[in-house]
Amino acid sequence: MSAAARTIQIAIPAPLRKSFDYLVPADLPMPAPGARVRVPFGPRRTVVGVVLAVAASAMPLRQLKPIVEVLDDQPLLPPSMLQLLCWAADYYHHPIGEVIATALPARLRRGEPANTGGASVWTLTAEGAAVDDAVFKRALIQQRVWRALKEAAAGLDDDTLAELSPRWRAAIDGLAAKGWASGYQRECLEAGEHLQTPPPSMTAAQTAAVDAVVSANGFRPFLLHGVTGSGKTEVYLRVIDEVLRRGQQALVLVPEISLTPQLAARFRARFREPVAVLHSEMTDAERACAWLMAHHGKVPIVLGTRSAVFTPLPKLGVIVVDEEHDASYKQQDGFRYSARDVAMLRANRAGVPIVLGSATPSLETLQRVRAGAYTELDLPDRAGGAAMPTIELLDLRRLAIDDGLSHPLRTAISETVSRGEQVLLFLNRRGFAPVWMCYGCGWVAPCQRCDARLTYHRASSRLRCHHCGADSALPATCPGCRGTELNALGEGTERIETALKQMFATARIVRIDRDSVRAKGALEATLESVHDGHADILVGTQMLSKGHDFPNVTLVGVLNADQGLYGSDFRAGERLVQQIIQVSGRAGRAAKAGRVLIQTYHPDHPVFTALRQQNYQQFADYALTERGETGFPPFSHLALLRAESPAIGAALAFLRHAHALARACMPAAEVQLMDPMPSPMERRAGRYRAQLLVQSRTRAPLHALLSDWLERISALKEAKRVRWSLDVDPIDTY
Ligand code: ADP
Ligand code: ZN
Ligand code: ZN
Repeated sequence: MSAAARTIQIAIPAPLRKSFDYLVPADLPMPAPGARVRVPFGPRRTVVGVVLAVAASAMPLRQLKPIVEVLDDQPLLPPSMLQLLCWAADYYHHPIGEVIATALPARLRRGEPANTGGASVWTLTAEGAAVDDAVFKRALIQQRVWRALKEAAAGLDDDTLAELSPRWRAAIDGLAAKGWASGYQRECLEAGEHLQTPPPSMTAAQTAAVDAVVSANGFRPFLLHGVTGSGKTEVYLRVIDEVLRRGQQALVLVPEISLTPQLAARFRARFREPVAVLHSEMTDAERACAWLMAHHGKVPIVLGTRSAVFTPLPKLGVIVVDEEHDASYKQQDGFRYSARDVAMLRANRAGVPIVLGSATPSLETLQRVRAGAYTELDLPDRAGGAAMPTIELLDLRRLAIDDGLSHPLRTAISETVSRGEQVLLFLNRRGFAPVWMCYGCGWVAPCQRCDARLTYHRASSRLRCHHCGADSALPATCPGCRGTELNALGEGTERIETALKQMFATARIVRIDRDSVRAKGALEATLESVHDGHADILVGTQMLSKGHDFPNVTLVGVLNADQGLYGSDFRAGERLVQQIIQVSGRAGRAAKAGRVLIQTYHPDHPVFTALRQQNYQQFADYALTERGETGFPPFSHLALLRAESPAIGAALAFLRHAHALARACMPAAEVQLMDPMPSPMERRAGRYRAQLLVQSRTRAPLHALLSDWLERISALKEAKRVRWSLDVDPIDTY
């Protein structure tokens, strides 16, 4: 091999938008693209990088440093994943090294060996379970192993199999070679309780949806639009069943960690094959194991949150994105990617169908359906005969409210509880009260570090800032007038809980918000106890609104629906409607009818009209028209340059320079640059924040500008004085 060929390009986890060239010394093997290598970086540090390419360097060879070690003899990231990651780095204008770091489990990022320690638990595949006993006529040990596995839904480990026959290994290898059995490591994958309960027979709408997806030939995006409880999950299960039958793998994304146990349990009950779960609360060892099993094609189903979209799956057959409208799919710091959008590209590259499921699809997705790019599959009715809840508006202009609860709502709560049914009250504000005020002079307690008020938490008797975490004791006297008449104003979940305890002395009341379920696993435990009937009234924030199934909840109360109505973000209305429909969807999911009461001061607002008629489409039409008129997404593409600095003015000064630079290198009139502006909450955690919005009707000129612009911005001397970032397709413009 010539000297020039022994140079490689490496991605290094550092905030630099480039790759680095290194030499491979003669005594080391040539690493393949996608393999990890250890390289010197900086004066006396070595880091783990990933080989992007074997390519000649434009630099003089003597300036290149040699790599220290090759960590993988096989690529850890296959070419398809490497391409996807490079695309993501380009699209989001984020350093490739950090993008790759997001894709790798921590252990592998640190350079630990990529092995799972070998298989130790064996199960039959769907195909293996279906074969006839008679096929083993001439393979008696295989038959013995197969019969034992057929009895053991949760699988059998090596030791148990060894008890069947000293030649068990050859037998299991034989079964595995035919695709009838598969092995996995117990440590990270639980086959769980495989229940032999037959799946429900599908409705006509479900059948049509499943047929459409499984007969898709190659890449095809679907929107599975079904009201809450319409059986979307059942559609995913059937589609995945078919994908597994074809010997392929399925990737299922969910927005929230709290939704994984519930869904994983449903998958495990249905399939014999193990399910790999990937989310941030798992241990490093569990994550690395699950990731590697998927990478080696040994686990057919991967279920995970955002970053699971980067799991290598050699036999990918379908991608499912559940609750596709959910904002949690967008990472809000560092590498600001949207897992839904990356999943779409991945499906496209891999040539497989993708199903975006939601009761309340994002306007972006609906617009693509309108444009004919996505196929909509509708599940208009609830499955299993459950009726949709009725929705009523409570006009707060005409009703007295006390502790946040109007009289009709109190009556409804009381009736529901006395029937032995459950009530769910939704209020997107934790703490006791959002304001701590002096009734003498009107002073309200501010956060010292944010442009925000402090929230009063009664249980701990503290004032807290929900933006920066500041925490202080209650002042004994008002700093304004020295008065002592300080008190809480407004209500949060803690106050509602307190009021309910007074009103319904014997009812069991459970509060679910970030304060009440801080500990790991606490949310799951609480949800389970609610599920088991150990609660009469649930009060909570949006934590309650997502996906959880409470069959005995028949009344949902939305306490302060107006909160989101006039938010500073153009998506405020969309968010509000989605949240209310999701939370309403918790009511009456079983045999009993549900009722939803929404308290509002604006019953005539189009958002509430659409809600009352339970017509998401009507809302979407209204909102899309509005977006079209204002030119916001999906009718344009946005990028947001954000900056913050402890010094007042520095962030804005930086953005003004950036603005001038952009004007200089602006390629097309199509791209619009807004003026730099202070962020809606200008001061947060002691830093002054500002932003510059860039908008374009089409994507290409926007991205052409961004590449060029970022390079110039990085070189600005003002860039060193502020913390700045670029957000492509921002979902919050503050
Ligand atoms: P979604 O995911 O749309 O909220 P699920 O798939 O969770 O809906 O279905 C809601 C409930 O209806 C579940 O308890 C599920 O088992 C049940 N279900 C789904 N499909 C059917 C069907 N075809 N017949 C009867 N029950 C069904
Ligand atoms: Zn005062
Ligand atoms: Zn603060």
